[in-house]
Amino acid sequence: MFNHYSQAPICIINYTLKHRNSICMCSLLLPTDDKAHNPETCLYRHLVTMTNILRSGIQKSPWKFLASCSKTNRNLHGLIQNAQEYLKPISSPLVDTFNRKHNYLRISLTEKCNLRCTYCMPAEGVPLTPKENLLTTDEILKLARLFVSQGTTKIRLTGGEPTVRPDLLEIIQGLGELKSQGLESIGMTSNGIALKRKLPALKKAGLDTLNISLDTLDRDMFGIMTRRQGFDKVLGAIDEAVRINVERVKINCVVIRGTNDDQVLHFAGYTKDHPVNVRFIEYMPFDGNRWKSEKMVPYRELLTRIESIYGKLTKLTDDKNDTTKAYQVPGYQGKLGFISSMTDHFCDTCNRLRITADGSIKVCLFGNSEVSLRDLLRQDQSDEKIVQVIGNAVRRKKRKHAAIALSVVPSFLLSPLQRRHYSSQNRLTHTDPKTGEARMVAVEGKKDSQREARAVGRIVLPSEAFKLLKKNEIHTLKGNVLVVAQIAGIQASKQTSQLIPLCHPLALTFINVNLWLDDEKSSVECESTVRTVGKTGVEMEALMATSTALLTVYDMCKAASKYMVIQDIHVVSKEGGKSGSWQWENK
Ligand code: SAM
Repeated sequence: MFNHYSQAPICIINYTLKHRNSICMCSLLLPTDDKAHNPETCLYRHLVTMTNILRSGIQKSPWKFLASCSKTNRNLHGLIQNAQEYLKPISSPLVDTFNRKHNYLRISLTEKCNLRCTYCMPAEGVPLTPKENLLTTDEILKLARLFVSQGTTKIRLTGGEPTVRPDLLEIIQGLGELKSQGLESIGMTSNGIALKRKLPALKKAGLDTLNISLDTLDRDMFGIMTRRQGFDKVLGAIDEAVRINVERVKINCVVIRGTNDDQVLHFAGYTKDHPVNVRFIEYMPFDGNRWKSEKMVPYRELLTRIESIYGKLTKLTDDKNDTTKAYQVPGYQGKLGFISSMTDHFCDTCNRLRITADGSIKVCLFGNSEVSLRDLLRQDQSDEKIVQVIGNAVRRKKRKHAAIALSVVPSFLLSPLQRRHYSSQNRLTHTDPKTGEARMVAVEGKKDSQREARAVGRIVLPSEAFKLLKKNEIHTLKGNVLVVAQIAGIQASKQTSQLIPLCHPLALTFINVNLWLDDEKSSVECESTVRTVGKTGVEMEALMATSTALLTVYDMCKAASKYMVIQDIHVVSKEGGKSGSWQWENK
């Protein structure tokens, strides 16, 4: 047969997929002698795709692959025979008791790191395992081969910092050879400090995807968060990865409240011209990283904050095992993602296993239990024995990770049942349930707790007034509009109990009012954050700050135009108190 368009000779492979009583007849058209379309590669890719479809759709059920093909091509014939073997469902040692199939392996190459990120490592570093106890190049490749033989299709190298390991290239080359045995993707997570020059060779050796950690686009903040210099090197590595067309370049940004949460908006802007995927990771508790629930910014809050500036984001489709909730600012080249390990954990679809730098298998990032595969390798145990030990570890994997069983559980971590219980307590506390009369709530029995509320809002101006404001010409009449509005918001917040009849007077410990111009909306946007340590919340104080700041903008701009509208004033989040944390969710 000949391709209708190119007239190149082609062959047809007809095959049948059988699952229980369903039969699916498939035909695959392959070029036979077109060098640009190597038939073996085409068939291989096709089979990989079919395998993934089958693995995701058909759980443990048996299914068969039957094929016949043109007798003229012996190579294809052989490949199809191999395919029957290759397309077997993922083997049982990698399937746990919750039927999760672990086809993704993360290998830590080293404990060493050339940065000291405050949320990850103490300033003095971590105690290092003696070199002779770390996995050698050959041991890493041997374990990788065993895992791939059992159904692992994705391997990611991590650390510590993988680029500090001198045999990195050799390891990736070795992994590259496993691609003919079922490995589909080799990835690496790096801080990017020593990466740029190495990248072309790593890509050539088989590196497919790259995650680069970068928590801020501010050079000074980078120095504070990593306790090292090197901001430009990281940006250089990201640009290089894009330049040489690494398949998927992702930026990992751990978001910590009060440290770099303001960077989220800058990163969203960064995706305009950078075709990378920026993923915001909820700050997780690890040994000694002094994690506090109030420092963790739930992804929903981040989403709201970004949407309040960039408008509604486009929701992109997430893959089944993807830990990222993917979005995009419409029209931007890059993407945004949220990794909600804390507020919306993805344990149910977890497909990951880990090997530590000293060769232990870890079935959960948060679990302590580790089994040494290195010892088995060094005792010259058979492959079957090692696979059996891996299988035993996988079967011991718990349903959920340990971090979500923390002693202080914020409300966003409660089960739907627990949440319903709390919400059934919702009622109008400022009126007497019997008489309906107004009253101030008695709070003397309540415990003091750290409380915070954030409220946002905007004032939309006609374009002429907006332009004047942007040029800051209005200040020639009445002073700098945004500065005055900011002070007004702070002052008003402190007066809340004077103005709202049933509000308790509170000793506020922190008030921050931010105002900025949004060109697209022709508006002034406002976000106020208020904190106290006390018995009642500060939502009213945050709303008061935002309302008054926006009223002040109105007052100062009304000479230019009265066609201004104050809109969307609302609380976006609150923390503390008996009911815990709450975030605005777009319904
Ligand atoms: N050195 C490499 C790097 O910086 O990307 C790889 C190792 S690093 C431990 C792997 C990833 O874990 C990084 O993206 C890092 O930001 C993330 N990470 C470390 N500590 C974290 C924490 N407490 N919460 C959330 N993510 C964290």
